[in-house]
Amino acid sequence: MKSINERLHTIFNHIVQHNYGEHEFHQAVSEVIETLGPVLHKHPEYAEQKIIERICEPERQIIFRVPWQDDKGQVQINRGFRVGFNSALGPYKGGLRFHPSVRLGTIKFLGFEQTFKNALSGMPIGGAKGGSDFDPKGKSNAEVMRFCQSFMTELYRHIGEITDVPAGDIGVGAREIGYLFGQYKRITNRYESGVLTGKNPAWGGALVRREATGYGAVYFAQEMLRARQDELEGKTCVVSGSGNVAIYAIEKLQMLGANVVACSDSNGVIVDQAGLNLETIKHIKEIKRERISTYCEHHPQATYLENGNIWAIPCQLAFPCATQNELDESSAITLVKNGCIAVTEGANMPVTPEGIKVLIEAGIAYGPGKAANAGGVATSALEMQQNASRDTWTFEHTEQRLKTIMKNIHDNCYETAAEYGSPNNYVMGANIVGFRRVADAMIAFGII
Ligand code: NDP
Repeated sequence: MKSINERLHTIFNHIVQHNYGEHEFHQAVSEVIETLGPVLHKHPEYAEQKIIERICEPERQIIFRVPWQDDKGQVQINRGFRVGFNSALGPYKGGLRFHPSVRLGTIKFLGFEQTFKNALSGMPIGGAKGGSDFDPKGKSNAEVMRFCQSFMTELYRHIGEITDVPAGDIGVGAREIGYLFGQYKRITNRYESGVLTGKNPAWGGALVRREATGYGAVYFAQEMLRARQDELEGKTCVVSGSGNVAIYAIEKLQMLGANVVACSDSNGVIVDQAGLNLETIKHIKEIKRERISTYCEHHPQATYLENGNIWAIPCQLAFPCATQNELDESSAITLVKNGCIAVTEGANMPVTPEGIKVLIEAGIAYGPGKAANAGGVATSALEMQQNASRDTWTFEHTEQRLKTIMKNIHDNCYETAAEYGSPNNYVMGANIVGFRRVADAMIAFGII
């Protein structure tokens, strides 16, 4: 009879062979599987029912052609994806990513993570992800609109408010969600607000959804510090990225009295020891859609580091909020050396496995994305609630709900890690809570 660890190893090898070349997906699966030994020990029914094997296989994967015409009249062709990973706890829910690096394996890693994150949020939603290798950067509004219309012309038949509810992610913000919703409404002849989240509050969106992922990550960091009898106020922070998650993480950090000294985009890093001016960043990124380097034109005391490593900037709190695998082992060593005390993931899987090992061994408070950035999807579920009841909540009420959700997620992870013998290990706590919620529902439904 094989030991639990041998069985987990066999399952993982099988997944690697059957999902050839999808390295990010392998990485995401490995991070979860590695923490499940103690759960299988306590609950042999999960192994008997082959829950891990089932949970790692998406329920459905859709790949489609997205043809569109650019402003010069040239035909362009992109590839669209939607992976419904798991619907045990509710309709599929997860964002759409538009970025040239998107491949099936990218979407599968994100959909896999999303399944556990959504379960952890405590909301009745399954896990999914989608997107395209389309790059909205440098495209005109008309080109983005034509692409979104073509993308939705295929996607619409696979989604619906009680089937699958997409939202934004990298490269998909309120503008793209608007074009996508417009085309869905036009094709289906239905004003089905609940089919997409991240909508503009002027036509069915929820207040706080735009801010939710960044704010939520900061609330999670606040709880991790509180558990160590520490606080955010006065701490020096760096936040990678300068997109939706990064901007609102910076905003909440500043509101709570922290000093954010650096942010970035894929070209370089801005360092402003006086504290970043968020109005300027919003103007550059949300209105002008320019590169972050232009920050220095407004604030000459700041420095721009072309292709710089943001993790080399000394800080007490680090918030990776850009993309996967952006913080590797050597950056983690640098953070520890510079006195960093907490790393909170606003992005999905931004720290490499080797980086995580360094942080955990150094005793740093490390909040994994599936827990720390769950505020975004949780607020999407609040948007679905408001759409279903044709209601609109105030900013204050919605933010209070977000705050409570983040505290509950933190406490569940913290307590579960201790219960399973790894106190302070939020990776362990998050994976076990998320896995058990999905697994119990799957067992209840029989073999489907
Ligand atoms: P945005 O597109 O708004 O911003 C992404 C930011 O990250 C930009 O500053 C971008 O720079 C930078 N970036 C993207 N790709 C790379 C790369 N390969 N190397 C370096 N920098 C890069 O996306 P979001 O803020 O929405 O998403 C950021 C992360 O948060 C992603 O991991 C996403 O999955 C995760 N997330 C987002 C949620 C949400 O609600 N939006 C919810 C939960 C997680 P540039 O402009 O130069 O490309």
